[in-house]
Amino acid sequence: MSKEFLPFTRPSIDEDTIAGVVEVLRSGWITSGPQVREFEARLSDYFGGRPVRALSSATGGMEIGLALAGVGPGDEVITTPLSWVATANVILRAGARPVFVDVEPHSRNIDLSRIEAAITPLTRALLPVDMAGLPVDRTRLNEIARRHQLRVLEDAAQSMGASWQGERIGATGDLVSISFHANKNLTTAEGGCLVLNDEQEARRCELWRLQGVERFPNGDLDSTLPGGKHNLTDIAARIGLGQLARLEEFNARRRVLARRYFECFDRSLGCELPLEDFTSSNWHMFQIVLPGHVERGAFIEQMYAAGIGIGVHYPAIHLLTLYRQMGFKPGDFPIAEHIGRGIVTLPLFPAMRDQDVERVCEQTARTLKALGGQVRAAGQPNVATVSGR
Ligand SMILES: *Cc1c(COP(=O)(O)O)cnc(C)c1O
Repeated sequence: MSKEFLPFTRPSIDEDTIAGVVEVLRSGWITSGPQVREFEARLSDYFGGRPVRALSSATGGMEIGLALAGVGPGDEVITTPLSWVATANVILRAGARPVFVDVEPHSRNIDLSRIEAAITPLTRALLPVDMAGLPVDRTRLNEIARRHQLRVLEDAAQSMGASWQGERIGATGDLVSISFHANKNLTTAEGGCLVLNDEQEARRCELWRLQGVERFPNGDLDSTLPGGKHNLTDIAARIGLGQLARLEEFNARRRVLARRYFECFDRSLGCELPLEDFTSSNWHMFQIVLPGHVERGAFIEQMYAAGIGIGVHYPAIHLLTLYRQMGFKPGDFPIAEHIGRGIVTLPLFPAMRDQDVERVCEQTARTLKALGGQVRAAGQPNVATVSGR
């Protein structure tokens, strides 16, 4: 490789945060404690004073959210087929059935105009995803939920710092789950949070978070529900505090880089670009859909050979083996399948330089021209060709 390797994402952890983590390590208290309480308080401020509980992952947060929404065996939850598989897996783990509704081609988010046709007497909740941090229309979403008396669990895993009509994602709505996985706009290495409606719901979230255990001043303890193990460590919370202080700066930098992509990207290559949104999105990812004749694996390989990391987020969930075994099949959700087959994530993270964007655009053009004649093998399985997320 002639040039320094450019990954598709990389967290920005500053020296102050590292020193803070070292302090926590030396403090004698490393699991959930004062740092978690402080992180939750700062997050609550960020979300307009709503109750927030920190968790070890957004996946755990969504499992808790579904439990709080009363979703269980026999229920249906409406969601998108174009997401990280956690979005649908948590529905299965609750014993409920995921009902997929295809996405819109431009936003790549669930098509709200098709949701009402998918609602049945068994529908209990809506579980939308903000792909790449581009928010689903919250006004229409909440209106549908109200009309049909459904709970909403927002899989806002990617939406930290995004907004809808000037209000932060998380500051409004029903249950909102956000991820602090290493790739997200705010990270705690692994972690997440759930934004809740009131203190009573927050208390129940705490029970689901840790074995349903309640402790009493006299030393007794009791357990009233089969909670799991989803608490965040103080080490992770300290990273989150350092990240939260810089979130606006990070997201501003992401927006600048995304704009640069739109300026530099050669639109004659036949790729589908993301929606050009500079009011709501937090630009968690910059994703293009490759032209149909280009074999994605070959594209990723050649970009990698040129020192550029490419991600795949995500193949359509209903075509993964687990879901095919449930009866889902190719053709069920054609737009999600089309996007899931050709989507790639180009490098975008706050520490990237403007010239890195130019380099990615130039190399993408070179690679696509070189692959011009290569046709995707028929019947090739729709799975990610790279490991990791
Ligand atoms: C990252 C992500 C998750 C899972 O978050 P974890 O914190 O890794 O559990 C769920 N849904 C979407 C859309 C994500 O991007």
